[in-house]
Amino acid sequence: MTYTPAENRYETMKYRRCGNSGLKLPAVSLGLWHNFGDDTPHQTKRDILHTAFDAGITHFDLANNYGPRPGAAESAFGEILKTDFAGYRDEMIISSKAGYRMWDGPYGEWGSRKYLMSSCDASLKRMGLDYVDIFYSHRFDPDTPLEETMGALDSIVRQGKALYVGISSYNTERTRQAVAILNDLGTPCVIHQPSYNMLNRWVEHDGLKDALQELGVGSIAFTPLAQGMLTNKYLGGIPEGSRATQGKSLNPSMVSERAIANLNKLNDLAKQRGQTLAQMAIAWVLRNGGITTALIGASKPSQVTDCVGAVANLEFTTEELDLIDEYADE
Ligand code: NDP
Repeated sequence: MTYTPAENRYETMKYRRCGNSGLKLPAVSLGLWHNFGDDTPHQTKRDILHTAFDAGITHFDLANNYGPRPGAAESAFGEILKTDFAGYRDEMIISSKAGYRMWDGPYGEWGSRKYLMSSCDASLKRMGLDYVDIFYSHRFDPDTPLEETMGALDSIVRQGKALYVGISSYNTERTRQAVAILNDLGTPCVIHQPSYNMLNRWVEHDGLKDALQELGVGSIAFTPLAQGMLTNKYLGGIPEGSRATQGKSLNPSMVSERAIANLNKLNDLAKQRGQTLAQMAIAWVLRNGGITTALIGASKPSQVTDCVGAVANLEFTTEELDLIDEYADE
């Protein structure tokens, strides 16, 4: 079946400026870490992408290793770009990253120039693209000079293989250093990708969130739903088929009785706001413009639809924020 994007796709989504750059990102972006590998039917992947694009999600986040089978998500995404999104590339912001283990030997992970440059080429090939919009250093490498890692990002842009660059999960100190090096090279750091949600506030404790605003660097918060915990999914325990049952990245021990009791209190608060818990969790990440975009994942289209509904109400009263602090302990 052919896909034609919804004509009204830009009517409800909000687009927010990414730091001091010219780039605007949708308030909700879609990540392909899970549910785009070999273990998910191709049609499900298509359906999720169609629903996202129809809802105004223009930003799709990938990495070399997303699968399972590392690389499978990029290959599937490339295939769907070709069959379903031909003619829409200029309406999309596509990112990829290198940093985690991708192939055997000493050049298959971390932050060397050798690894980043070859991994970027391989990602472009898998996706069938000439360039990605954003290319990231996926993690800080303590053994490679930061000048080398940032120099590789700069070269990737100068070779026309990426339009912008970013860093992921770098702490505040390393971020300041990376931003300074990239500024000197003339390829500014446009975006930082840290984890951030009500149950994981390291970006506040570390000062990263404030530092990014001060530096004019945009931000994209990954796992804004704490991998599904901050949704209605776990309110009655761990349901069959959920991420917590799949032995992937969400440890079932996180979904303790105490956590479930607190999630139910948060869910009641969300209801009072006229939102689902997922919507409130996303709105919380985006509150006061402190984060540019919330980077969600989804295993089915209805989850995407629920999540984008968050943008209708991003405001919180002080009382609501206090209650969230009380119920959402880290
Ligand atoms: P989320 O916190 O958004 O969790 C997504 C999961 O939550 C879904 O798979 C689904 O779980 C559940 N979910 C989503 N929406 C709903 C809903 N409305 N109702 C009920 N359940 C819902 O984010 P992810 O952990 O998936 O991460 C998002 C993206 O962040 C990744 O795809 C990746 O792009 C990026 N990322 C980056 C990292 C980095 O190091 N830079 C590390 C990790 C992620 P279920 O599958 O159980 O249905």
